[in-house]
Amino acid sequence: MLRKQIGWKFDNTYSNLSQSMFSKLNPIPVKAPELALFNHDLSKEIDLDFSQINNKELALIFSGNQLPEGSESIAQAYAGHQFGHFTILGDGRALMIGEHLDKNKKRYDIQFKGSGKTPYSRNADGRAALGPMIREYIISEAMNSLKVPTTRSLAVVKTGEDVVRETILKGAILTRIASSHIRVGTFQYALISKDKNDLKSLFNYTLNRHYPDLKKSKSPAVDLLKVVLEKQIDLICNWMRVGFIHGVMNTDNMTISGETIDYGPCAFMDKYNPDTVFSSIDHQGRYSYYNQPRVAKWNLERFAESLLPLINKDSEVAIKIATEVLKEFPKKYKKKWLEMMKKKLGLIGDDPKDEQLIIELLSWMHQNKADYTNTFCYLMKEYKQENEIYNEKKFMLWKKKWENRIKLNNVSQNISLKIMREVNPLIIPRNHFVEEALNYAAEKNDLSKVRELLKVLQNPYDDIATNSAYQSPPFSEKNYMTYCGT
Ligand code: AMP
Ligand code: MG
Repeated sequence: MLRKQIGWKFDNTYSNLSQSMFSKLNPIPVKAPELALFNHDLSKEIDLDFSQINNKELALIFSGNQLPEGSESIAQAYAGHQFGHFTILGDGRALMIGEHLDKNKKRYDIQFKGSGKTPYSRNADGRAALGPMIREYIISEAMNSLKVPTTRSLAVVKTGEDVVRETILKGAILTRIASSHIRVGTFQYALISKDKNDLKSLFNYTLNRHYPDLKKSKSPAVDLLKVVLEKQIDLICNWMRVGFIHGVMNTDNMTISGETIDYGPCAFMDKYNPDTVFSSIDHQGRYSYYNQPRVAKWNLERFAESLLPLINKDSEVAIKIATEVLKEFPKKYKKKWLEMMKKKLGLIGDDPKDEQLIIELLSWMHQNKADYTNTFCYLMKEYKQENEIYNEKKFMLWKKKWENRIKLNNVSQNISLKIMREVNPLIIPRNHFVEEALNYAAEKNDLSKVRELLKVLQNPYDDIATNSAYQSPPFSEKNYMTYCGT
């Protein structure tokens, strides 16, 4: 009955893979589910209609207490290099409740995060706290509005149960939507499986699901590596564009689809510093802003290793072929990054001094602790607060050079400005606003600030007068710190 009204169209295919790749189990029911957030826009986008379903029923569904008909929940197995060390992992606190097809047969994983222990939980409780789940909801939805490929967030339900961390916190379950949850780590897991067919099956499944055109290829494994490399370069350039720092780029947190996944210790950079790290556990700065492209390449090397048996029977030949593909990364990344930065500055055509112009601006921002987002807003005349820093002599000289370069575009200034407006957000989820909203939610049980922030973040490129307060960087110089989302 419910299924008919809502429009669930489950077609669960991942469980056709070998049983070593997942475990079937149900979410562990929770005591008192209560809806915190629900994303009606997203539900419509994927052709689900919850308009006839009240909040109580939504809470029952998205806590896992009442699974929709047609759902078959599984925890997926995977491995991963965490901070460089290989580990067997898997969904320790997540369950995929099914794959849903929209009207165009586009396939989405519907996944709960915080739904209880699984065979992969190791010693942890399988649960999640309200703050980090709302945080993932806010940041992932902000990323989507910023036009960065990402998993999405459909709902957050409070469980009515406590979770014990350093303090006692409220428990919650997030419903995450992804084009799939196949990770580099999933391939690493299949590679070391006792059953040699597991890798081939996962590979075929991935082609069918994400890259069906490659099925016709003469060397599909090499081509998969190439296409994932392109996707990751595109993704990282998008992160660099908006100042996003993922914070935990382990191979289990890198998708084959090219979507950003796993919003744990991630955060947006305020003042420009390439060495910025927010995560409390990243002492070496392995996942700093500047290192992100390098780490992506490192992760792709692990992906390539997993594909070797499918590239060529002779491992030495396979290594040679894969190495050739990976060798292209720096050149390809540099090209994409330069294109992206040129757009941020509204530069059209090629001038031999373009790269230098960009580097000079970044160095100035770094030396003067200028806000990354707002500096581009200032150049677009979209930042009107605290502009004193931009009267600095070196900056004014740079700006003159930039204005002269813009003239070489040979098009009206409005066209340059239009290019800039498309890639430079006015609004990002600034850490101090996110924290303030989360504090209200967790401590005062008041979600109004979260909702207000979510609304503002829906239109990051639009000049909306009432949103301009959200452009403010934090008052305090204190370094922001994030924690692995638990
Ligand atoms: P993450 O850092 O979120 O990518 O998580 C790394 C691994 O730890 C994944 O296998 C998670 O499922 C697992 N994990 C994280 N938190 C918990 C928890 N509270 N209970 C069980 N497993 C967890
Ligand atoms: Mg993860």
